[in-house]
Amino acid sequence: MNDNPQHETSPATAQSIVHMEKVNKYFGSLHVMQDIDLEITAGEVVVIVGASGSGKSTLIRCVNGLEEFQSGRIVVDGNELTPHGKGGKSLQTIRTEVGMVFQQFNLFPHLSVHANVTLAPEKVRGLDSGKARQIADRLLERVGITDQADKYPGQLSGGQQQRVALARALAMEPRLMLFDEPTSALDPEMIGEVLDAMRELANEGMTMMIVTHEMGFAREVADRVIFVHGGRIVEEGTPQDVFDHPQHERTQSFLSRVL
Ligand code: ADP
Ligand code: MG
Repeated sequence: MNDNPQHETSPATAQSIVHMEKVNKYFGSLHVMQDIDLEITAGEVVVIVGASGSGKSTLIRCVNGLEEFQSGRIVVDGNELTPHGKGGKSLQTIRTEVGMVFQQFNLFPHLSVHANVTLAPEKVRGLDSGKARQIADRLLERVGITDQADKYPGQLSGGQQQRVALARALAMEPRLMLFDEPTSALDPEMIGEVLDAMRELANEGMTMMIVTHEMGFAREVADRVIFVHGGRIVEEGTPQDVFDHPQHERTQSFLSRVL
């Protein structure tokens, strides 16, 4: 009975990619993250939902050190961030291991699509230009942008720019990908192509934290949904748990407005 090989992949032994323990953050007197505990293991796709101003962006920005926190612990793939931004070497490591895609694509406007993707591999990972080009070509093909590679970001549609932003993040071979409302700035007809690229990444086993209002997508790709309200994790569970059987009154009223 005890030699069932499935035991080896039980959650108890899964590798931790994000460990947050009693994390608190303030903007002045605003207590924007309140005793956040969160554990994300390798390959998990976690979707964070909640009303505007509930602290979703702040939560994921803390994971790659874009925001400081005041107390608690954040450990990302074994690298510990300490309160008050004293991340030192860990912060640098985390920045190279964690990719992020923002609502506004944040591409470098003066660089070609191709150069947007090769820049960090060359400058941060120290790859030679041939190797960086190889990686960029593969990733741009993967997100369906090959024929736009020599254009500048301003010449692309929003959906294309966001797919380049995804390719740029993947070029660093991240251990974790963060997405902060990646489709919120897109025209409706372009949302699908970005969600398709994210779905593919999820299916390949990438560990992902995604803030989105795309509930259909969340239901489909999330291993776990986290509902945030007032800087607290109010409820979490499978998409079925949270969307179909919300336990908390806050979750119920939020879902009744968005679903
Ligand atoms: P969400 O992403 O869920 O909309 P945010 O994490 O952006 O929420 O913001 C949570 C709260 O923190 C909001 O009340 C917001 O106004 C506030 N806030 C966010 N960034 C800052 C900042 N840089 N300075 C002060 N307050 C901020
Ligand atoms: Mg936000």
